[in-house]
Amino acid sequence: MFAEVIVEIKASNTDRLYTYKVPEGMELDVGMRVLVPFRNRLVEGYVTSLTDNPSYSEEKIKSIYKVLDRYPIFNKKMIELAKWMKEYYKCYFSEVFQTMMPAGIDKGEKKIKLVRLKVDDIFEEDFKRAPKQWEILRYLRKRNPIKLSDLVRALNTDYGTIKVLEKKGYIEVYEEEIKRFQVKFVQKSIPPVLTEEQKKAVEEVKKSILSGHSDAFLLFGVTGSGKTEVYLNLIEEAIKMGKAAIVLVPEISLTPQTIERFVSRFGDRVAVIHSGLSPGERFDEWRKVKNKEVDVVVGVRSAVFAPFDNLGIIIIDEEHEATYKQSDVRPRYNAKEVAEKRCEIENAVLVMASATPSLETYHKALKGEYKLLTLTKRIKASMPKIEIVNMSEELAKGNTSIFSRRLFSYIKENLKKGEQTILFLNRRGYSSFVACRDCGYVPKCPNCDISLTYHFEDKKLVCHYCGYEEPMKDICPKCGSKRIRYMGIGTERVEMDVKKFFPEARILRMDVDTTRKKGSHEKIFYEFKSGKADILIGTQMISKGFDIPNVTLVGVILADITLNLPDFRSSERTFQLLTQVAGRAGRGEKPGRVVIQTYDDTHYSIVTAKEQDYVKFFKEEIKYREAFKYPPFAHLMNIVVSGENEEEVKNTSANTYLICQKVINKLQIGSYNKILGPAPAPISKLNNRYRWQVIVKSEDRKVLEEIAGHIENMRHPKEVRVAFDIDPLNIM
Ligand code: ADP
Ligand code: ZN
Ligand code: ZN
Repeated sequence: MFAEVIVEIKASNTDRLYTYKVPEGMELDVGMRVLVPFRNRLVEGYVTSLTDNPSYSEEKIKSIYKVLDRYPIFNKKMIELAKWMKEYYKCYFSEVFQTMMPAGIDKGEKKIKLVRLKVDDIFEEDFKRAPKQWEILRYLRKRNPIKLSDLVRALNTDYGTIKVLEKKGYIEVYEEEIKRFQVKFVQKSIPPVLTEEQKKAVEEVKKSILSGHSDAFLLFGVTGSGKTEVYLNLIEEAIKMGKAAIVLVPEISLTPQTIERFVSRFGDRVAVIHSGLSPGERFDEWRKVKNKEVDVVVGVRSAVFAPFDNLGIIIIDEEHEATYKQSDVRPRYNAKEVAEKRCEIENAVLVMASATPSLETYHKALKGEYKLLTLTKRIKASMPKIEIVNMSEELAKGNTSIFSRRLFSYIKENLKKGEQTILFLNRRGYSSFVACRDCGYVPKCPNCDISLTYHFEDKKLVCHYCGYEEPMKDICPKCGSKRIRYMGIGTERVEMDVKKFFPEARILRMDVDTTRKKGSHEKIFYEFKSGKADILIGTQMISKGFDIPNVTLVGVILADITLNLPDFRSSERTFQLLTQVAGRAGRGEKPGRVVIQTYDDTHYSIVTAKEQDYVKFFKEEIKYREAFKYPPFAHLMNIVVSGENEEEVKNTSANTYLICQKVINKLQIGSYNKILGPAPAPISKLNNRYRWQVIVKSEDRKVLEEIAGHIENMRHPKEVRVAFDIDPLNIM
């Protein structure tokens, strides 16, 4: 017999199947890892298929050296998924397999040593000469069995004595496997009676699961409309049919409260995968799935690879979240797309859910590619009152502080009443935009319609998509004001001003700087929740999952910061963020208030966020996407060239441009293809490396896939790196 093997070498010329002989008697199955001889050394590999007819002359075929696994790591369907990922994201097989495997797979099971008493009748007189031995036995009579290390510590005894007792047959030292991570026991909860809307959603999806065909749904419902309750019911239905469920949740929403909701319904049949797990813990959770000890996996992006072979449903909560995309390392996959493909392969059902669906997803739902399910009503809490304050008007009235008069007075009131306030500031330190403080005008690129970024050194305004540039303006072209300047404030500045204006307030700050240490995020959260502070200042981190009844005021310091990110999704991100932030106010009995400060109070993102009208927002945003050919009307590819030598980087990015052009001319497909750049990336220098980028837009994704192949084989200086991302969610 012969095996087709993918070798664990990351290079384009070895990224293919190699054939090896399976020695007589070797226990081998598809999906196992092996060691194989390869160019005079042994390398790891993955068996993707077994065959009796090799496509290669038999006598030249080498034999597999060793099998590394006792059971297959991947089943055939996962191998099919891997093949799809390789082609779709244009990466190496081995990169996909490594992504699918749990980190820590080679850590093995964790075992502990235990000691137990083997005989019942023990008499003190038998141990007159061995008091130490007697002490151990007496202790064991009370605690049997006990961890060896605990016994040694408790009695301050030594292993020698224990050995002697074991030899004499009184006790036994044995090993037991333990799971590194255990879900906490939670009281079973009684499910509420579903509302009509919830029932309808559950019925629709249930029908699809029963039919055994793959299907995809968008569950569109505001926060608090009972989406999670729908998930719980769907999972229950799937389990009744003997099927398993995967629930993907963004990292920041994977809080103890979230986990508790699943555990209180399904007990220990739930595995949890979050990024705080050690490799060993990850492996244990993975094995619970493999051994069929669980029916449900709740986890972050990588949980989409949970090795069930009876998958019934994948649920993606907050489907618009960018964290589902792996942007930093290859394969640059999107768990949403992988989930959709996996459901197709395994005849499972996909449910994506959000209060603010991504433009792409909602567009597909309207076109009928996804079935749309809607929850229109909030179950409990009422909507907070949202007010917009125009900061230009504040300025005109002589208020130059970062607090509008309204927000200022609301904070004062809250302090007096002992109610809590969240001040939200989306800070992105790397870039700053220019705005007119009188009329709110922001200079934008005429080609790409994204905000121009101000470059301090040469006083230029630059477009990071296409490279367009113009000199910094002294006078606002819209209103003639001289107060046109760059914007940028950070959370530290807000903290300083809060201290200055509200000296009586107790303040907490949550941003990247205050949450570097593990666990500090939770610490700040619980301190605030328990009422140890009056005001919490924070970035994106606080926009989600913060369910604190005493928070009755949320202030958005400057909505324009997100609105003017140099990214075509900036309007969408703003709408999502404002909706989420607004959801933090008034979650308890007391009504909530939200104040959004901006220089651009007529922008549709802000106006529709105030009205909490997603559909209206969508209708505006989709027009602009169509006009400028952004997703969902075209696919994007971002190619980043980086290196320490700026000349080399520039030259390589120029070559990259030429390659793109050649491919487009050769293929002649897709009615719309456009290459932007080369231009310095928004983060133009990182770790002493210069960064340039080329962005390609195409109606046909195949064009981009073809370009990826050519980029991979492009010649360039050794030190220069060229990385590409198809369908990127961040262009930095
Ligand atoms: P979402 O996931 O859309 O934010 P949840 O499922 O968390 O909404 O529901 C919001 C709150 O309403 C939760 O406290 C939940 O327990 C409760 N809830 C959900 N559905 C019902 C229902 N049918 N009857 C009573 N309470 C419900
Ligand atoms: Zn102006
Ligand atoms: Zn441009």
